[in-house]
Amino acid sequence: MDSTAEVIIVGAGMAGLALAMQLGRQGRPVLILEKAAAPRDKVCGEGLMPLGVAALARVGLEPGELPGQDFLGLLYRSGRQETLLNFGAAAQGRGIRRTVLLEALQTAALGYSTVRLLQDEAIAPLREGGTIRGVRGRGGEYRGQVVVAADGVQSRFAHAAGLPMRPYGYRMGLRRHYRVPGGGTWDRVRIGLFAPHDVYLTPVGEDTVLATTMTTHAGYDAVKENYGDFLRASPFGGIFRGAEPVSEQMGWHHPLYAHRGHQGQGMLLVGDAGGSLDPCLGMGISLALLTAQYAHEAVTAMLERPEERAQALNKYEAACQQLYRHYRIFDYIFRFMVLSKARGELLMWGMRHWPETADAILGAVAECNPWRGIPWRSLLFPGRRDMVGKG
Ligand SMILES: Cc1cc2nc3c(=O)[nH]c(=O)nc-3n(C[C@H](O)[C@H](O)[C@H](O)COP(=O)(O)OP(=O)(O)OC[C@H]3O[C@@H](n4cnc5c(N)ncnc54)[C@H](O)[C@@H]3O)c2cc1C
Repeated sequence: MDSTAEVIIVGAGMAGLALAMQLGRQGRPVLILEKAAAPRDKVCGEGLMPLGVAALARVGLEPGELPGQDFLGLLYRSGRQETLLNFGAAAQGRGIRRTVLLEALQTAALGYSTVRLLQDEAIAPLREGGTIRGVRGRGGEYRGQVVVAADGVQSRFAHAAGLPMRPYGYRMGLRRHYRVPGGGTWDRVRIGLFAPHDVYLTPVGEDTVLATTMTTHAGYDAVKENYGDFLRASPFGGIFRGAEPVSEQMGWHHPLYAHRGHQGQGMLLVGDAGGSLDPCLGMGISLALLTAQYAHEAVTAMLERPEERAQALNKYEAACQQLYRHYRIFDYIFRFMVLSKARGELLMWGMRHWPETADAILGAVAECNPWRGIPWRSLLFPGRRDMVGKG
């Protein structure tokens, strides 16, 4: 097999495939290296926020044509309270099974004759001068003009290249799909703040709901052998009485890393490889798709105008920094609030009494709306939202 291409992408996840698809559309030779059998399933909440729905359409896949379920906002539940949050009028998210989305991206990318996918694990970068121009894999060496790391949250490849990583915590995750009569058509993702567990129920169509739980090591050990019993005993218990599991239970240790840069030594870091957020924001896939779009612009500029390579990399860095800066504060605040029962109740109380502000904050997260749109003045006039919708 030819081991050269214009662009070598490490990782056939959301970011790597979305980038390959855009480059393939331009007829560019791309080689994707994936260590696992693709598409690789893993623990995820499978909820694509409105920002990601729009990004997916721009990348070239129509979200509504993929099996799944649209949702219009979130329904929060704690031990004592329940409230709804709404996306903006024109915005909606979509629950799509991870394997369905990956398969669609992979089929679209490999539909271009210049895109190839090879099962191999990338181990180390190959340099020319100070620039990374290739990859050493377990099965051979691969060379290209641009190398992209899209190998997920730990980015061992970026680590092997000596790029700095700043760990700032971890989350343990558990997930299983259940057949819940009517559940697949809910118009909300349900979120349970049951510290030390936060539970996410995402409708993914066909009467199927994904139940994902994030927690601490101790919380994980307490429920991993009896996940169904844990869900039935939770305030969401009624949903799971009579529900049937329809997928394997999976567990996951999810480290949280903030990279100091989204590029280095001539290589781009895309998706989680460039920095991750706490999964409780539900923004990982959206940011993977969006950074793949930014990377597409950068790679195109680097190939068409090699003399402007440094400028293209700097522009990519600046765009990613701005994006992640927007999220960093939400990341800290939400994680801080969901990790304690008392703070979870306080968050719920605030959302119930200032629903307009809470919706606007949701818009700043799920749609990446600017902060200046948040009506802080309405904090002077607390209200109350009645529960509506199908839940
Ligand atoms: C519990 C949990 C819940 C979540 N819920 C949501 C949610 O509801 N909504 C949302 O948008 N996001 C959610 N996320 C985040 C989301 O899953 C990720 O942000 C997203 O998958 C990142 O995409 P990626 O392409 O960057 O990385 P990944 O999807 O992780 O893909 C990386 C790929 O690289 C491959 N790879 C790794 N190393 C190598 C190597 N050395 N050589 C070759 N291949 C390699 C891997 O096998 C993998 O296929 C959740 C995450 C967790 C843990």
